[in-house]
Amino acid sequence: MKPLILPLFISFSVAALAQAPISKEVEPVYPDAYALYLDVHQNPELSAHETQTAAKLAARLRTAGYDVTEHVGGTGVVAILTNGTGPTIMLRTELDALPVEEKTGLPYASKVHAKDDAGRDVPVMHACGHDLHMASLIGTAEIMARSKNTWHGTLMLIGQPAEETIGGAEGMIRDGLFTRFPKPDVAVALHVVNEVPAGMVTITPGTFDTNSDSVRITIYGKGGHGARPNATVDPIVIAARTILALQTIVSREVKPGEMAVVTVGYIQAGTKNNIIPDQAEMGLTVRTFNEDVRKQILAAIARITKAEAAAAGVPREPLIDRYESTDSVYNNVALAEHLRAPLEVALGKNRVAIAEPHTASEDFSYFVEQGVPGFYFTLGGADPEKFAQAKATGTLLPSNHSPLFAPDVDPALHTGITAEVAVLRNLLNTSAEELRRLTATPQP
Ligand SMILES: [Zn+2]
Ligand SMILES: [Zn+2]
Repeated sequence: MKPLILPLFISFSVAALAQAPISKEVEPVYPDAYALYLDVHQNPELSAHETQTAAKLAARLRTAGYDVTEHVGGTGVVAILTNGTGPTIMLRTELDALPVEEKTGLPYASKVHAKDDAGRDVPVMHACGHDLHMASLIGTAEIMARSKNTWHGTLMLIGQPAEETIGGAEGMIRDGLFTRFPKPDVAVALHVVNEVPAGMVTITPGTFDTNSDSVRITIYGKGGHGARPNATVDPIVIAARTILALQTIVSREVKPGEMAVVTVGYIQAGTKNNIIPDQAEMGLTVRTFNEDVRKQILAAIARITKAEAAAAGVPREPLIDRYESTDSVYNNVALAEHLRAPLEVALGKNRVAIAEPHTASEDFSYFVEQGVPGFYFTLGGADPEKFAQAKATGTLLPSNHSPLFAPDVDPALHTGITAEVAVLRNLLNTSAEELRRLTATPQP
């Protein structure tokens, strides 16, 4: 029996030794990371307006010893730490918050209001958890700067503006992210979600999320008195019919089993009960995995919208504007499989799982499309107890973008920092040539 027990004992102690350092390293940097979380959470800023947020991040990164450049692609931040020869690895956080009124009731809930780009007064909240990503990146930045004997190469940390409006990544690239600064061998990012308990991470090799298209439809009618509908062409009735007809695209036109979402997220028309307005506007989001299905749905939206308007005898064809688009994020399969091991060592095997692709979207795909292999993984955010209760009762916890979104910060932030350090250290101990060989493996 002895020869069997001995190797087991050795492998356990190696794992224990390998685990101990990162969690121990997190403790001294945690208070500062948590302080940044509280500050940014209480002072959220809308997409492309993240001036204070970016300045806070830049100041901390400078203090930690990074070479920091601000205003890259608007409010973007780039922080570089060089440490001998080795690969260049990028870690990205987003900076922006959402026009959502926080209703979590937390003592540090946001009370902020701001003017949106249309000049409207809107509440602002970090309802997508980008505050947690920033805090995690800062904790990671401080650990990596304090432990330069554990890695070699160039660490590139970026704070990206305007992720929620899909434009920030592209803006940074256009402003020279990969020409003024070294082009990374691998780009890494994480996202916190409430569908996974805090303390865990999940990996999705291959397609991580969906293609996303935002479509604005303006239906033109003929306005008039609410008591004389016969003298008008009512755009509200046309919009109502159009919305119902659009819901038949996924249920009747797309092949069963294909991932497809068509959501009408807003409809705006009219000012008063006895006035028939002359136009109605609605905003849609379209999500797909498959490029052909994407094209099919966008064509169907145009066909149905025009036909419903024509059926009502409109004076002018509707305007259909696809105003924001992003491709799905692709995780290099060999890289995702390679990084599973260091995550399992750092967090424990039962805290790392493989997950299905998500229906959300991200402009991280812009970095990947520049030829940079990407590793985008998921960080659990749900209070483990509430998660278990919800699972038992078949209910869902408030998702990202909800006014009630409230990640369980303490375990999620500890896990985020630990996971990021584990991933970066592994990549920064692999040569650029090895990474090229690994990521060049043919993708399915
Ligand atoms: Zn979001
Ligand atoms: Zn987000």
